[in-house]
Amino acid sequence: MPNVLFAALPPRWLQYEPPLRAALDAAGIKAHVATDIPPEEVDYIIYAPNSGLTDFTPYTRAKAVLNLWAGVEDVVTNATLTQPLARMVDHGLTQGMVEWVTGHVLRHHLGMDSHIQGQDGLWRTEVPPLAADRPITVLGLGALGTACAQALAGLGFPVTGWSRSAKDFSGITCLNGDAGLDLALETAQILVLLLPLTGATDNLLNAERLERLPRGAFVVNPGRGPLIDDEALLAALDSGQVAHATLDVFRIEPLPVEHPYWAHPNVTVTPHIASETRARTASEVIVENIRRGEAGEPFVHLVDRANGY
Ligand code: NAP
Repeated sequence: MPNVLFAALPPRWLQYEPPLRAALDAAGIKAHVATDIPPEEVDYIIYAPNSGLTDFTPYTRAKAVLNLWAGVEDVVTNATLTQPLARMVDHGLTQGMVEWVTGHVLRHHLGMDSHIQGQDGLWRTEVPPLAADRPITVLGLGALGTACAQALAGLGFPVTGWSRSAKDFSGITCLNGDAGLDLALETAQILVLLLPLTGATDNLLNAERLERLPRGAFVVNPGRGPLIDDEALLAALDSGQVAHATLDVFRIEPLPVEHPYWAHPNVTVTPHIASETRARTASEVIVENIRRGEAGEPFVHLVDRANGY
């Protein structure tokens, strides 16, 4: 019977214990799941980077670390972690991100703010363009970026996606590499960032790249805060190069009250709620990896430690 350590903050245990036990039962796996197992007896670690566990050295027999979140930037460089690291790919998380991105894209596309804020007796008759006339670029064509790109393409937007490796998704113009990024930015009336944070993506959206966007573009960032050079974005907002930025993630979270994003009239701050790992569906993903580990099958959603995601 495998021993499964749940290493996350106590409220998460309350949230995850019932669906984890249900998913183990459904898979016919008998396991001991607890928050306090001696390290040398642990077979799997279900892990949140803010759990306080930072030294994996004593976990000598652990077969895998199963991250609760999609982003792994806080654990991927941990030199004590020698076991396979799986990240979270959860269809509940993906669906949540599709809904958040689609909602914020449609807000900007339709110019909803002018009607929501402008209850002032003015009969504003400007009709928004159809989706077909609003090119959108999604940076990152992974689990989340692809699902968002496909949902937006399904609404009729011309969608360009950009990734590290070459892709081929029907209905999406897929680009990669530096030249591909330039092209992807040049057409992006709405730019959605769904890249992981790595050495290669830190500050990716800098002043030069913001200049490549069509004037008056909208930036929507549910990826990670450091993907954007904050000072460059603020300058682009002030100059009108960027019309509005909707930001869910920041270099420091919670975003400090004195940060200029809070006060900027053309910035919308959401508090890292674009999408969360959903306990029920995530438990099924975790249990599938435990099943695989016990059956000697390869784990799914493994992180490439060299690439950092
Ligand atoms: P993923 O499946 O690993 O996909 C990452 C994508 O980014 C892939 O298409 C990858 O290219 C591309 N990429 C990585 N490095 C690149 C580079 N240097 N140049 C170009 N493309 C690069 O990740 P995911 O599950 O879609 O999640 C994406 C990110 O969303 C997470 O890392 C996390 O930071 C963020 N997130 C935020 C929230 C929230 O609530 N705000 C929730 C969940 C996740 P390849 O396809 O070629 O590998």
